[in-house]
Amino acid sequence: MDITFYGATESVTGSCHIVRCNGHTVLLDCGLIQGSRKADKLNREDFPFSAKDIDAVVLSHGHIDHSGRLPLLCKRGYRGEIHTQNASADLIDILLKDSARIQEYDSDWYNRKRRKDGEPLREPLYRSQDAERVLKQVRGHRYGESFNLLPGIDIRFLDAGHILGSAIVELQLQEGEHKRVVVFSGDIGQYDTPIINDPSSVAQADMIIMESTYGNRHHRDRQSTIDELGEIIEKAHSDGGNILIPAFAIGRSQELLYHMGMQYEAWQLDNWQVFLDSPMAIEASRVYWDYPQLYDNETTRLRKGILDMPRLSNLNFSRSVEDSKAIANYKHGAIVIAGSGMCTGGRIMHHLRNHIPNPRTHVIICGYQSPGTLGGRLVNGEEEVKIHGKWVENRAQTHTVGGLSAHGDQADLMRWLNGFNGKPPIYLVHGNTGAKTGLRDHLRHEHDWPASIAQDAQVVDLISGL
Ligand SMILES: [Zn+2]
Repeated sequence: MDITFYGATESVTGSCHIVRCNGHTVLLDCGLIQGSRKADKLNREDFPFSAKDIDAVVLSHGHIDHSGRLPLLCKRGYRGEIHTQNASADLIDILLKDSARIQEYDSDWYNRKRRKDGEPLREPLYRSQDAERVLKQVRGHRYGESFNLLPGIDIRFLDAGHILGSAIVELQLQEGEHKRVVVFSGDIGQYDTPIINDPSSVAQADMIIMESTYGNRHHRDRQSTIDELGEIIEKAHSDGGNILIPAFAIGRSQELLYHMGMQYEAWQLDNWQVFLDSPMAIEASRVYWDYPQLYDNETTRLRKGILDMPRLSNLNFSRSVEDSKAIANYKHGAIVIAGSGMCTGGRIMHHLRNHIPNPRTHVIICGYQSPGTLGGRLVNGEEEVKIHGKWVENRAQTHTVGGLSAHGDQADLMRWLNGFNGKPPIYLVHGNTGAKTGLRDHLRHEHDWPASIAQDAQVVDLISGL
């Protein structure tokens, strides 16, 4: 009975771990590696295990850094089931098809150049049909219900409060007379996030695999975040500019619209046209609408009377490419929410290219940005950035609004950990080096909690090693 860490050990992406018990092999997450120049090369490498040896896959949530290599896994021969929460099952339908389209688009783009240079053409990492195949293997489950995955392995998904359907994965393992409970945090959300519930507490574990994205950080509280957004909108209005918000299609976009609905008058949004410029975010909003049973109390109360739901009369859904391009006609007064969240592609790219040379433009960064991505460069205030292969002068005013993160900060992570009985050993994954060492040191020195940083390919024996 053991666990091997294969991903998100060196960074925040590519979540992927193997649990072995009773002669069975379970893959926990199969995320895409993102945000560095080496990412594409790393994603193309063989898995450090054989896809055919996996007996079952368990997926914490839909985000691509947790699910994005599933099409590759199936393309390489995995035919078993993929278990996840019901809403996650619906969301990965949207996310994986989109990821496949991006892979196809990127390789077409590279191949055009390669064809010109007489170089060999490159296959996309995977295609739409590979994503379709994954969806046939997905099995959805409700929160809180334990199910038997394989002999000696029971699974329970608990709400992680990160995005709709996001789960903490509890694994009840039994091999001979040995019983162990392993809890994988998945991505833990902030407490008091709008729409969805707080992370569920878990009492019992023999070992915890813990994310640490913001393990060394403290977010601003929600009210000051709302005030901060209001101030940016007011400033942008007096500057006579546009506001660009690169946002993840799932979670962040819905949360932003919720705040805009609630603060419509306070933020004087009748001065603006709001564009949700992302077919994926529009589809994801529909999934959010379809799962009222997963809402927190406040959103449930609002939803009861449909007229009480936060409404934005000036919200425009930009589905087609023409709709998106037409936004360029707004020289001021447009708030554009578009993907991708880290500005690594998608429609936000052409809005940034058009508007960041203008000092009246305001860019609101409200999610994690990997260093090296365009989003990361904007946060650093770089005066010139490359967009679609061309240098663009950056004179926009960029604001980092940390309080909207879908990830809990150190206080949130500690609040969740304090729900456990005792101090089961913690292995930290899914954070950059500073975040992981920060959280590890905090746990060890302030709480006397045995915590270590998971190393790539490290095996932890769950019977003798704990
Ligand atoms: Zn996530």
